[in-house]
Amino acid sequence: MNTYDVLIVGGGAAGLSAALVLTRARRSVVVVDSGQPRNAPAAHMHGFLGSDGLPPAELLAAGRREVIGYGGHLIPGTVDAIGPLSASAGGAPRFDVTLDTGVVLSARRVLVSTGLRDVVPDIPGLRERWGRDVLHCPYCHGYEVRDQPVGVIGGSSEAVAHADLVRQWSDDVVYFTNGTTLTGDEVERFRARGIATVGGRIARLVVEDDALTGVELSGGEVVPRVAVFVRSRLVPNAGLLDALGCASDSTGWVTADPTGRTGVPGVWVAGNASNPRAQVITAAGEGSAAAIAINNDLVEEDVAQSVAQARAHTVASSSGRPTR
Ligand SMILES: Cc1cc2nc3c(=O)[nH]c(=O)nc-3n(C[C@H](O)[C@H](O)[C@H](O)COP(=O)(O)OP(=O)(O)OC[C@H]3O[C@@H](n4cnc5c(N)ncnc54)[C@H](O)[C@@H]3O)c2cc1C
Repeated sequence: MNTYDVLIVGGGAAGLSAALVLTRARRSVVVVDSGQPRNAPAAHMHGFLGSDGLPPAELLAAGRREVIGYGGHLIPGTVDAIGPLSASAGGAPRFDVTLDTGVVLSARRVLVSTGLRDVVPDIPGLRERWGRDVLHCPYCHGYEVRDQPVGVIGGSSEAVAHADLVRQWSDDVVYFTNGTTLTGDEVERFRARGIATVGGRIARLVVEDDALTGVELSGGEVVPRVAVFVRSRLVPNAGLLDALGCASDSTGWVTADPTGRTGVPGVWVAGNASNPRAQVITAAGEGSAAAIAINNDLVEEDVAQSVAQARAHTVASSSGRPTR
């Protein structure tokens, strides 16, 4: 009952997309999901062909229905531990997966699609508005605030580049240095593109009637803005992969081949857990690619097992021993 072909940790776009492909490939699949997809605070999801503007939760609800419709299993909960990696009699990988409830599931292959965590600056009011009018990605939400007064919370070279990018959506962009200093080159770039710079430290975000209205500086001045963009620090939810021994690159992201196959036999990764740039449609695509690779890997194992059994049968027949 508790043994599956594939166990998927994380039921966001990546995990559910993989589950859909694998259940349609007639594999037994379980998705364990703790229910905190990264884009949950956003009212709408953009840039997903055919579903642009859909509430994020609706996409996932539809995905869960599709997976269940093909016989997939969904378990709400958190995976606490995978492994250690063991091997079947034929040497194929096998995993024991422990949930926070203490339940242990077994699987032939594991896909980790646990997403990432956004770490945002500690500015009063910012976390509360995250995904609403505190935005991280202009491709996701820039169009909705086009031509309006927007800001970029500064403090790093990445934030400077973010301001250059956001300028594509509005000609009223203010870069808040938040107490940091711009280089001469950065000042020149901003001037040339008409990006205003406001110095001083940010005291808080001003919210009225449940909407951002401005950015208050430590001196009390309020700069009216309808939205601010923030370059969050992206931290992969990769603890399970690290514990399995999956290798990471110098920036701390788990490395995998284009199908999401990690260096640990039987372990795949998809979506934001290993790719900070993955939008929803990219995460779903990575889940699909991983699912196809996982199924192919299982087919190889199935073929090897069948051949071994057939050979044993032949040897037993030729020796005159009963074969059953
Ligand atoms: C505010 C905001 C708005 C966004 N808007 C857009 C947009 O409009 N368009 C767009 O394309 N992209 C948008 N994105 C990016 C989008 O959120 C990601 O591309 C997408 O969520 C990645 O999907 P994923 O499946 O990799 O991860 P997630 O969607 O984050 O799913 C990971 C899942 O794994 C679960 N999980 C984690 N650890 C465990 C564990 N140990 N056990 C069990 N479950 C676990 C989590 O609870 C979660 O449900 C937005 C991001 C943010 C922050």
